[in-house]
Amino acid sequence: MASPDPSDPCVHCGFCLPTCASYRVLGTEMDSPRGRIHTLKAIDTGELSLDATVAGHFDSCLGCFACVSACPSGVRYDQLIEATRPRLNNPELRSPWQHTFRQLLLAVLPYPRRLRALLTPLRAYAGTPLQSLVRRSGVLKLLGPQLNAMDALLPALAPEGFADRFPTVSPAHGQRRGRVGLVLGCVQRCFDPKVNAATVAVLQANGFEVVIPPNQGCCGAVSHHQGQMDQTRELATTLVASFQAIPNPQPLDAVLVAASGCGHTLKAYGELLEPGASGFPCPVQDVHEFLMERGLSEEFRAALMPLQHPEGQQASPAEPLSVAYHDACHMIHGQGITAQPRALLQAIPHLQLREATEAGVCCGSAGIYNLVQPDEAAALGRIKANDLQSTGAGLIASANIGCTLQLRRHLPPDDQAPAVRHPMELLATSAGLL
Ligand code: SF4
Ligand code: SF4
Repeated sequence: MASPDPSDPCVHCGFCLPTCASYRVLGTEMDSPRGRIHTLKAIDTGELSLDATVAGHFDSCLGCFACVSACPSGVRYDQLIEATRPRLNNPELRSPWQHTFRQLLLAVLPYPRRLRALLTPLRAYAGTPLQSLVRRSGVLKLLGPQLNAMDALLPALAPEGFADRFPTVSPAHGQRRGRVGLVLGCVQRCFDPKVNAATVAVLQANGFEVVIPPNQGCCGAVSHHQGQMDQTRELATTLVASFQAIPNPQPLDAVLVAASGCGHTLKAYGELLEPGASGFPCPVQDVHEFLMERGLSEEFRAALMPLQHPEGQQASPAEPLSVAYHDACHMIHGQGITAQPRALLQAIPHLQLREATEAGVCCGSAGIYNLVQPDEAAALGRIKANDLQSTGAGLIASANIGCTLQLRRHLPPDDQAPAVRHPMELLATSAGLL
């Protein structure tokens, strides 16, 4: 564990506290960044030992890094918690059920084949009246909060989520402007397959050839977030190798991703991989970052049409479609990306952005946090859903699959609640590509 240097710059000012998601719902100093930094120092000096109680205060951290953005002294809490996580995986520090449940999640979520095999029998259940009936009966609550949370987050399962149907190379349309790779994201490709389809279509329409290795694996984001470093390195190495195995060795301009949780980990490959191991030989970028850097093509801009309001009429200058963009933590705090998705959305005619009041506070998704810490995550999900809904927006845009599922869960289950869509889906729809 990287212990904080006693001379580290935390001056205990507490500026980070109001932005901290765990402090927001638990309200205790030990569950705040300042408290955890103090605890790490106490462990380092031998005043405190890392037992199950202390470990629980680290497990309550969402790893959202809002505290890093808020800290005026430049404290790198992100590095401290990332260095601490591997030690928390000691089975003695969690209950047998928590340990086993996390192991199961890490044995399934980063492996699309296993995840799909597990989801196949649930196709007749997820998103059907049977699921509504089971939820209303309350029987799932008897199985415990974690399994109840799994069901509550489970969306309807589209057939496209059960196979990656992309060709290895999707050609550029119109004038060719470059060649990019795309990382599909394990949870995203299974639970919201339209997002990758829309991303490929938008990139093609903007003149980019898109390379997607067949049988692409996981980037390692879920295991990285849990401090499972050996698993993360193995997944990262396999993913890089899958791109290197593409027969046409033409170089890629960038490897892109449309899920910010994955993007944060992909950008850390330089530090994550063993010394000497090569990561991607080109930059890794979030797709919004890349498109804004390269600019939307003239042809694409010209094709953009107003979107429809939830009630069905087309947006117009008199009645623009209001959209609230949700900042995912791994996008805003982890990658410093805020303006690019907003600018892309504003390219859509008669779309008006609305800003939530607590854009920098975590929605409670945070990797597998909403499964392993369901009560805290649900409290945060309700706060975030209320905040976004109170903007009065007709639609919510979210560029991270974990946040999308969390928001869909916590918005009211009725027709009045705004739908949650990925910016790439909105752009593709506006351009008539979906
Ligand atoms: S981490 Fe930064 S913001 Fe938080 S108490 Fe320390 S110095 Fe203040
Ligand atoms: S990473 Fe997020 S939850 Fe953890 S201490 Fe920082 S602000 Fe709080």
